Amino acid sequence: MARLVMKFGGTSVANVDRIRNVARHVKREVDAGHEVAVVVSAMSGTTDQLVTWCEETLRRRRIFDAREYDAVVATGEQVTAGLLAIALQDLDINARSWQGWQVPIATSEAHGSARILDINGEELVRRFAEGKEVAVITGFQGIHRESGRIATLGRGGSDTSAVAIAAAIRADRCDIYTDVDGVYTTDPRVVPRARRLARVAFEEMLELASLGAKVMQVRSVELAMMHNVRIFVRSSFDPPEKIDPHDSPPGTLICDEGEIMEQHTVTGIAFSRDEAQISVREVLDKPGVAAAIFGPLAEANVNVDMIVQNVSGDGKTTDITFTVPASDYQRSLDVIGKAKRAIGYARLDGATDVAKVSVIGIGMRSHAGVAAEAFKALAARSINIRAITTSEIKFSLLIDAAFTELAVRTLHSLYGLDKAA
Ligand code: ADP
Ligand code: ASP
Ligand code: MG
Repeated sequence: MARLVMKFGGTSVANVDRIRNVARHVKREVDAGHEVAVVVSAMSGTTDQLVTWCEETLRRRRIFDAREYDAVVATGEQVTAGLLAIALQDLDINARSWQGWQVPIATSEAHGSARILDINGEELVRRFAEGKEVAVITGFQGIHRESGRIATLGRGGSDTSAVAIAAAIRADRCDIYTDVDGVYTTDPRVVPRARRLARVAFEEMLELASLGAKVMQVRSVELAMMHNVRIFVRSSFDPPEKIDPHDSPPGTLICDEGEIMEQHTVTGIAFSRDEAQISVREVLDKPGVAAAIFGPLAEANVNVDMIVQNVSGDGKTTDITFTVPASDYQRSLDVIGKAKRAIGYARLDGATDVAKVSVIGIGMRSHAGVAAEAFKALAARSINIRAITTSEIKFSLLIDAAFTELAVRTLHSLYGLDKAA
């Protein structure tokens, strides 16, 4: 007997038929004798709709009260949790739904992007033992204890709920059921020749997720790494009746580096079109200028990513280029505009039609020249590189958005990641 968390994402619970399919997956594990906690997302498209309604309701103000945003967007998960409990009971399985506040899942006060602080899993564990009861828990939400208000965890946050619950109930494994059958070398919807990875290290998954692979929310991987929760990413579309409980199903294990035998230099490629570039032209090349630019941006909570500063040719002025999330582009220009006198620059240039392509692999720690190969391959395709950043296990390149797919495919082949045709 094992204790499992099974998480089902939006497309896996997109309608009542799919929810009934999920119930059969859960039944399969219950029948095999396991204790099960299920975490569900809202039906796909629901959270987007709820966010849009919040935006459309505002007429006079520019931003809404984040507490009320959370009150609205948390409802999607409440519906699926209740429906799945009904579907399970319909299969004669003892099941009960739980909202974040009922568990409770305590969060910070940062409405819209709250962090999980603590989960009381004891009641769930007691019910496993006493009533063989399946817990169906709403993902994406918890409660800020001091104010007693619902808080949500940021888009894609049900992954984080699942991992945190797995840690709290000391689960043997956290299964993430989604619309692909594992983590691939890059997004399989963009590169059909992407290969499924049998195993991926926490650290690599953390980079893949934070650099654009949305298959797992970044915070869920951070939590899994911290608490050593083994995650298995698999498909909810495999018919439950065809899965042999004694066979290992297709999927990807996200685990400690030490559990990975096969080592490649490059494990995967991530990309993000959600980038914007800002260039501050002709700033004085003297101490304090970078602080004058990035200080106000930090105060405005803008996450600056890549930063490039040219060495000035004449010893007097230079350009500083950096990237921000596309959604913060206009706000960042406003912040820099307001600080113009303190910074001192000639003009501001910007672009939102840029993309960041990143190459990731723990094998890069011990291999030199990996990035150089990429520069050569992209140059051969006439793809211009606007900015570069590197770290121990990854490097990222900023390019024109129009070349994203070509660049990803080129690098995917270059590093031998294509599956055999
Ligand atoms: P869910 O609704 O189940 O949480 P998501 O849409 O959040 O699912 O994440 C799954 C999607 O992530 C896939 O459909 C796929 O297009 C995308 N994806 C991006 N990069 C990868 C990758 N490297 N491996 C697998 N899927 C990826
Ligand atoms: N429903 C939420 C979202 O769409 C959380 C999730 O699906 O993980 O972002
Ligand atoms: Mg997701």
